[in-house]
Formats: sequence, structure tokens, C-alpha cells
Amino acid sequence: MLYQNLAISTIVFALGTAIGSFVNALEYRLRHNLGFTRERSQCPGCGHTLAWYDLVPILSFIHLRGKCRYCGKLISFQYPLVELTTGILFVIFFVAVISNEFGIMNYEVWSPNSSIIQLLINLTNQLSGQPITQFLLNLPKYSIAQVSATIVSLLYIYFIITALITIFLYDLKYGLIPTKIIIWAGMTSLFYQSSVIFIHSMPAYILPHLGSILLSAFGSALFFYLLIKITKGKGMGLGDLYLGFLMGLILGYPRIILALYFAFIPGALVSLLLIALNKRTMKQAVPFGPFLVAGTLIGMLI
Ligand SMILES: [Zn+2]
Repeated sequence: MLYQNLAISTIVFALGTAIGSFVNALEYRLRHNLGFTRERSQCPGCGHTLAWYDLVPILSFIHLRGKCRYCGKLISFQYPLVELTTGILFVIFFVAVISNEFGIMNYEVWSPNSSIIQLLINLTNQLSGQPITQFLLNLPKYSIAQVSATIVSLLYIYFIITALITIFLYDLKYGLIPTKIIIWAGMTSLFYQSSVIFIHSMPAYILPHLGSILLSAFGSALFFYLLIKITKGKGMGLGDLYLGFLMGLILGYPRIILALYFAFIPGALVSLLLIALNKRTMKQAVPFGPFLVAGTLIGMLI
């Protein structure tokens, strides 16, 4: 089973790096207001059109030693880093989703009573590759409905991860949260959350589920609204409020609370550290989107 585990993980990882490559292109095209029908990728340095073998995620960067094949200009570390991160997240969430045939909704690594240590142990167990083995062994026993439900959840989560990494990158680089991405991810989440109950054949839960989703979305948005009012817009902006709303749509209650907790603790620590090191003053905001994205990913996983 070890080889099958490795083979599946490698395929999922490769798919993730390809999506990471797409995220890099998406960030560039969003920034420069380019459409998607335009010509192939070019080197930002010399404008040379890149061949397919210049665009293989991670491997091209290593092979070219981080330099453009045509002009020798250094390629940003952003490209392989985003590809690698997306690849790793795809594998982690693949394991997380298949370890619960009903997708993330009933994923019980975390319960309100479990300690942080217990949570870490559960998480490590979940990510050890054991779920892939179980999945493969039981594959013939799963019904078509279960397999389709898992595929739908997986596609939704991969879509959301792609959106979240784009938001992370964009806010980190430009201090802005791309509204277009929030709208697309928000609409997809609403559609998924309205249908997920039916996909899992539990129609009786539709109202509690949608109630939880909408309550956490509006509650989270209200929380950000109050923060913006209190800080007079110095720390957070409307982009953070929109992202907070999206987080509610993705996570529901009580995961939204955990996600905000895991975003605000490191966010506050890093801000204070930067101020202490005189890198930032109180007036210069530290982009908060990356912390919110990290919190959301943790909230989805536990
Ligand atoms: Zn070049």
C-alpha cells in the first residue's frame, strides 16, 4: 500500500503545483487587468514567450537555477514557493477529505472538549497517509453516491484553496484584497453550502446548516465592521470585512470562531513584533489578509 499511497500523493501534489502555477499567473493578470484569452505566458524581464518546458512547476525553476532561459534575469522565488505550497495543501486536504467520506462537514479531528495536544495528535494521525490506505482498501465498498459526494467536496475545497492562496499572495504583495476573487469564492460557497446537504442525502439538515453558514458569515462581517469602526480604519479595511464574510460562508459555526482565533493571535504578535523592531509604525497597517487565509485553512482542517 505504501507505493499506492506515494503514487496517489504524487499525482495530487503535481496537480496542486500546476494550480499553484495558475495562481501565480492569476495574481499577475489580476494586477495588470489582463484577460485570460491573451497570449501565452511571457518573461516579465525580456518579454520572450515561454515554452512549455519553461513552465513545469518547481522543476523548471530548479533546472534553470532561478533564471530566465532567454535573458538570464532572476525569476522571483514567489513562483516555486506558491507552487510548492499549493501542492502540499492539495495533498493535506485530499487526505482530510477522503478520511471523511462526507467531506469536511463531519470531519471530527476537533471537538469543543479536545485539548490542543489532542488536536495535534489527531491531525498527525489523519495526515500520516493511513486514510489513503483505508480509502483504497474500501474503494469497492463505497457507493456511487458516496464517491460523487467526496469528489464534489474535493473540487469545492480545491477551488477555495486556489482562491485563498490568490488572496494571500495579493494582499501580501499589494496590501489589497481582490474583490473579484471574494465574489467568485462567495458565490461558489453559497451554491456548495446549499447543495451539500442534498449531496449527502440529509435534507432534514438544510435549515440548520444554512442558518449556521449565514449566521457565521454575517456575524463575522459584523465583527470586522466593529473593528474598523473602533480602530477608525487604521488596521483593517473593507477588504478584510469581505474576506471575513467569505470565511463565514466557507466555515460555518463554530469553525469561524476558531479560524478568527488562529488568525488574530499570530496577526497581533507579528504586528507588535514589526512595530517593536521599528519596521512598521502603528499607522502603517500590516496586511491582515494572509493571517485570515491561514486561519481559514486551519479552520477547514480541524
Ligand atoms: Zn527573460
